Amino acid sequence: MTTSSSHHWDVIIIGAGAAGLMAAASASGRGRRVLLLEKNRKLGVKILMSGGTRCNITHDCGANDIAAAFGQQGKFLHSALAALPPDEVIRMIESEGVTTKVESTGKIFPVSNSAVDVRDALVKIGSRVGANIENEQPVDAIEKTSQPIGANNSRFLIHTKQAILECESVIVTTGGKSYPGCGTTGDGYSWAVRFGHSLVRPVPALTPITCNQSWANDLKGITIEDAEVSIVESMTAAQGITKKNPALDTRRGSFLFTHFGFSGPAVLNASRVITRRPSVGGLSMLCDFVPGVTETELANRFRELADSEGKLSVATALSRILPKRLAGALIRNSEISPDLKSAELSKSQLQTLIHQIKQNRLPICGTLGFKKAEVTAGGIHLSEVNSKNLQSKLVPGLFFAGEILDVDGPIGGFNFQAAFSTGWLAGLNA
Ligand SMILES: Cc1cc2nc3c(=O)[nH]c(=O)nc-3n(C[C@H](O)[C@H](O)[C@H](O)COP(=O)(O)OP(=O)(O)OC[C@H]3O[C@@H](n4cnc5c(N)ncnc54)[C@H](O)[C@@H]3O)c2cc1C
Repeated sequence: MTTSSSHHWDVIIIGAGAAGLMAAASASGRGRRVLLLEKNRKLGVKILMSGGTRCNITHDCGANDIAAAFGQQGKFLHSALAALPPDEVIRMIESEGVTTKVESTGKIFPVSNSAVDVRDALVKIGSRVGANIENEQPVDAIEKTSQPIGANNSRFLIHTKQAILECESVIVTTGGKSYPGCGTTGDGYSWAVRFGHSLVRPVPALTPITCNQSWANDLKGITIEDAEVSIVESMTAAQGITKKNPALDTRRGSFLFTHFGFSGPAVLNASRVITRRPSVGGLSMLCDFVPGVTETELANRFRELADSEGKLSVATALSRILPKRLAGALIRNSEISPDLKSAELSKSQLQTLIHQIKQNRLPICGTLGFKKAEVTAGGIHLSEVNSKNLQSKLVPGLFFAGEILDVDGPIGGFNFQAAFSTGWLAGLNA
């Protein structure tokens, strides 16, 4: 990257992730003189590591469905999503020669399965319209001048290791605190607080859940494509979910056993309710390993099997619907002999087994926290930022976009879309 000698800019953007790169493109596209500063040697590090280095760019749905995926926070995103909806993100990236594909889950990836292509396309989009992008430029502090300085009407001083830069508007796109090894160490939060902003306590979200049940840890590497997980108080886990004792959250999707506990989209999406609590004690996860089949249907299937293939072992029968190692573990947990024949399965044994399959109770130890969280929940209080232009309501000329805001969505490309759209809208107004 080239280092510009100018110290005066219309707009300085801090953080070259999804939001910063889009902000640079839209602000430069309006003819603003833009400098984008990134602390890392590589631009868009999280884009590069996203989606297992394939980059799940966005989701195959309209702007309203993206907003809806963010729940209450989604209302804040409407203007940004109107300014840059998902199909427009795809059009922009494809116009750089990166064709995309929609997978069966609705996730959109580059056909090349290469996150580098997406990152390079975003850098090209900004550079082509004149944005100056500099890497290895960590910003230490932002200062607001009491009076605009000089002919450039500068309102902010940006302190880097090498220089003090001046600008009229500053867009903070420093991300959250997740994966701090990537440079996202929450720098923007302390600047915002110094400017009088308040924070919704940042907590890890989309982070793996830990559990020390050895039978489950032994299943590491096994994926269930469709499982349903419910996070519940341990009391509820013992008594079952009822209207009076509902689950704290229930998510359906792919589920992965790991050596430390669980991961996969269903688990990651459910992790937020754990990290938001002051302590994780007293929580369990109820797992339904076959959510598409009711308990009654499952019982009927086993009874039919006892009639038609009575000599078939229960273990073999169960491994027709679940991975063999998981089937074996659930049979052991039910204290059923692995050689027991379908016809020999008693009513109470069947009930115990169905409970293991449909309401498996796993005590939660905790989560892997920020270290392995895909996003940060919490951040700059949305009530203090104008959703129509992403400008601070407290400090004119100061803008926030991306994960630094109190917005966090589920797995599926929603988080990039929010970062792209808020970055773009901030750049249109800064
Ligand atoms: C492993 C992983 C996989 C993911 N996969 C997906 C996925 O497939 N799809 C999806 O939608 N979301 C995914 N996410 C989430 C997604 O990466 C984030 O939501 C998104 O990157 C947020 O964009 P952002 O621009 O706000 O912040 P970031 O992408 O985090 O960018 C912030 C940038 O600011 C820089 N910075 C910080 N402080 C300073 C400073 N003081 N000076 C200069 N620069 C600074 C950082 O180095 C960083 O480059 C994933 C996240 C992780 C961790």
